[in-house]
Amino acid sequence: MTFKVPRGTQDILPGQSEKWQKIEGVMRHLSNLYRYAEIRTPMFESTELFQRGVGDTTDIVQKEMYTFEDRGGRSLTLRPEGTASIARSYVEHKMFGYPDQPVKVSYLGPMFRYERSQKGRYRQFVQFGVEAIGSKDPAVDAEVIELAMRIYQECGLKDLKLVINSLGDKEVRLAHRDALIKHFEPHIGEFCSDCQNRLEKNPLRILDCKVDAKNPLLGSAPKLTDYLNEESAAYFNQVKNYLDVLGIDYEVDPNLVRGLDYYNHTAFEIMSTSEGFGAITTLCGGGRYNGLVEDLGGPETPGIGFGMSIERLLLALEAEQVELDVDNQLDIYIVAMNEAAKEKAVELTSSFRAKGISADIDYANRKMKAQMKSADRLQAKFVIVLGETELEEMQANVKEMATGTQEQVPFHDLVNYLQSHK
Ligand code: ATP
Ligand code: MG
Repeated sequence: MTFKVPRGTQDILPGQSEKWQKIEGVMRHLSNLYRYAEIRTPMFESTELFQRGVGDTTDIVQKEMYTFEDRGGRSLTLRPEGTASIARSYVEHKMFGYPDQPVKVSYLGPMFRYERSQKGRYRQFVQFGVEAIGSKDPAVDAEVIELAMRIYQECGLKDLKLVINSLGDKEVRLAHRDALIKHFEPHIGEFCSDCQNRLEKNPLRILDCKVDAKNPLLGSAPKLTDYLNEESAAYFNQVKNYLDVLGIDYEVDPNLVRGLDYYNHTAFEIMSTSEGFGAITTLCGGGRYNGLVEDLGGPETPGIGFGMSIERLLLALEAEQVELDVDNQLDIYIVAMNEAAKEKAVELTSSFRAKGISADIDYANRKMKAQMKSADRLQAKFVIVLGETELEEMQANVKEMATGTQEQVPFHDLVNYLQSHK
């Protein structure tokens, strides 16, 4: 009997995991610079949290959740996204009482969605995201967008496009909703069954339908931006102004709506414009949610955030043929010719590692030639060979593999030598 990973999941093997670590390092570093402290919430939550927090009419809640009953009869769900859990935590720990608002947090970890698996779409994927909860300053919107853009740029991506829209406030959405229903109702028979359900429940979602994406009625639908009231329009203008101040290019797409129910005002996506990227072009999605915390039992509190997956970032890197500068350098490989040399090799390896020099040796008692081949495959920067002579003279011949240069170095000087040459 053999086993395979469950559909829509993957093993990240050595060789790949270095890239993940590199990207995660960029994310951690930039979150610190922007002061988004890490928050870790449980991998599963009560199912109701997502039904309320993500929204009953969303694809996520209707089709994509991994829901199970535990032995105590509670309905639990593997988290499909990060924002609902963080809003829950904000309320549970009364973070609204913290003197410094907004509370700025970041998260990094696996999310679970039962989706049709395809390129860039997994059932377990790793999302990085941030939330700034407790301020409705449009400068925060710009900061959050800048942080997302900077992560991609720092990883070396160039073919990026930022698309923004305003979903307005409640009043705007209600007026727009009525207009949408009027627009779609006479033709709703042409749409998929999901859209037929959406018409009354949440017609905005029709604009985001993947099945009916090519129906011309989507393009001619009433645009949210035409319904913005003075306040929402002013807010949107301020966000755009701050983006200008930060020198961030953007495109306004009046049809951009986000998949989750709780968004209002600013919505944005970052797409890859690289030709090689394929059908799914969205790298990151985010926006403002001014009703979520209240819906989860807290005081009325504005918030904004984004989520991006590492899987899609890696796809974009591949499409743009960007090689990440990963840190997997092996500083030195020690070849041992006999048992006594092996003992010395073990001792030296340990002393190198203690000083931050990465080192490896043979653990299969292979002949010198095979050990040299390993050193090559591992791309060791330096190699030393230990035999009788070396042990007698207490020194080794350090060979730099790339250049072929060799130097005799006493054992007690090896650490110094490697530290100054690595
Ligand atoms: P899509 O329209 O592609 O389904 P979404 O609107 O469901 O995206 P969000 O819930 O906003 O996506 O998630 C934010 C980001 O998480 C996406 O932009 C994408 O980078 C990533 N993402 C979402 N679902 C997946 C998945 N199944 N596999 C990998 N990455 C994903
Ligand atoms: Mg989705």
